[in-house]
Amino acid sequence: MDVVDRVRGCLLGGAIGDALGAPIEFQSLREIRRDHGAEGITGYVTTWRGQSGLITDDTQMTLFTVEGLLRARASEVGDAPGHLVVAAVRQAYLRWLDTQDHRTPPPAGRPHRTGRLREEGWLYSRRAPGNACLSGLHKPFPGPSPLGEPGPVNPGSKGCGTVMRSAPFGLIAWHDPREAFAVSAACAQITHGHPTGYLAAGAFAAIIAHLMADESLETAVRGALDLLATYPAHEETSAALRAAVGLAGAGGGHSPERVESLGGAWVAEEALAIGVYCALAEPSVERALLLSVNHSGDSDSTGSVCGNLLGARHGVAALPSAWLRPLEGRDTIERLAAELAG
Ligand SMILES: [Mg+2]
Repeated sequence: MDVVDRVRGCLLGGAIGDALGAPIEFQSLREIRRDHGAEGITGYVTTWRGQSGLITDDTQMTLFTVEGLLRARASEVGDAPGHLVVAAVRQAYLRWLDTQDHRTPPPAGRPHRTGRLREEGWLYSRRAPGNACLSGLHKPFPGPSPLGEPGPVNPGSKGCGTVMRSAPFGLIAWHDPREAFAVSAACAQITHGHPTGYLAAGAFAAIIAHLMADESLETAVRGALDLLATYPAHEETSAALRAAVGLAGAGGGHSPERVESLGGAWVAEEALAIGVYCALAEPSVERALLLSVNHSGDSDSTGSVCGNLLGARHGVAALPSAWLRPLEGRDTIERLAAELAG
């Protein structure tokens, strides 16, 4: 399997998980079973807008992460990460914020932040964006704090809005998981300053980077745990990841109740843990994705994280074509994947 296949798989898999989970993001497991049967949802169901296969803020922001990284790569001399990457990613997130604060792309001739995604009308849609992502982007960002210390923006926030947008850091720096970790964590601080909030994003990117190098998910998670241990304030994130690995290895099958024992995923380390658990516990890609969304917690974010992991590991051919075909934004996702892998 080549790099392009894994990059496409990662971005499309995340979008599929996001689209599966979106209609049930705010439903309890009881409500999901009441509305969809004992197994929960078994495919796309319609959202509040009466359509299915729609992505949410998780995929929107992931695509803007890709655009920011592409700009940084195009403008940077050498391959040193650092403030230029963080600045380019923040600019990309500000363009995402424009799509949330406005109804349509700006008319020609009016000055505005320019970028290709900024011109795509379908992205101008509020899909329950995270509060810290919105508020954080309205605040000035003086630059990231050393990893392990509280960041300058929303220092108490550790919502899952960091993890769910951060897979691309592992796709572009796949030769070096430590670099993927550091850049992802620094960029997560743009909106979330709690160390767990941004270290979980670092760990997620590192896992993706390991998967890009054809490692198993088990080995990839072990690699991320080794990296986490080198930073202060890693304990909460490390404990959540270890719980996911332990639960997946415990035997006795998996269930939504087991998923929920890892938390509700509204916070970063739980979203990461649930995504990892589902990808580890269920060998079928289709059933792993369904497991990752049929629970009381933040279903679109856990679906997105799980889909990113499975797609990076198994490639685009492993993704169910019935979910790929009607997926919103597929052409844009394919274009960005090709540019990122190129
Ligand atoms: Mg969402």
